[in-house]
Amino acid sequence: MSIGYADEYGIADRRRGALWIRVPVKPGAGAPLQGRVHALRQRQAMNYMLCQFCGRPTDDRPDGRHLFLLHAANGKPIADGERTATPPVCDGCALEVLGRPVVWRECAAALVEDATAWGVAGIVYAPETLSLDPPGHGWSSVRT
Ligand SMILES: [Zn+2]
Repeated sequence: MSIGYADEYGIADRRRGALWIRVPVKPGAGAPLQGRVHALRQRQAMNYMLCQFCGRPTDDRPDGRHLFLLHAANGKPIADGERTATPPVCDGCALEVLGRPVVWRECAAALVEDATAWGVAGIVYAPETLSLDPPGHGWSSVRT
């Protein structure tokens, strides 16, 4: 048993065995929603190593590596093999973001040579009960 949309539509709704939230696709329309992630853009940015802000490829650096800026309010550096649901950033957008002093204090940066998709992060439901798994939380990452 699994959950799904009554009118589920192929790979637009389900990828890697996971059901994805439906989001409007209107490039260039609307205003940025601070602190919220557009599910489709996030998935595309992670799968194709695109900048999370401007959508350009992030492998155009001379060394071919990808720049990741992750939240690290505790000052902990990014470890080798660490997983993230945060897409990479191009150098131009990184300079703009890091120009904000509050961001400097809360970011850790890493240049990554190989960033392989590992799985899906999201809300997990128990198939038997369709309740959150783990109970009361649900947010998890699943190997796909
Ligand atoms: Zn960018």
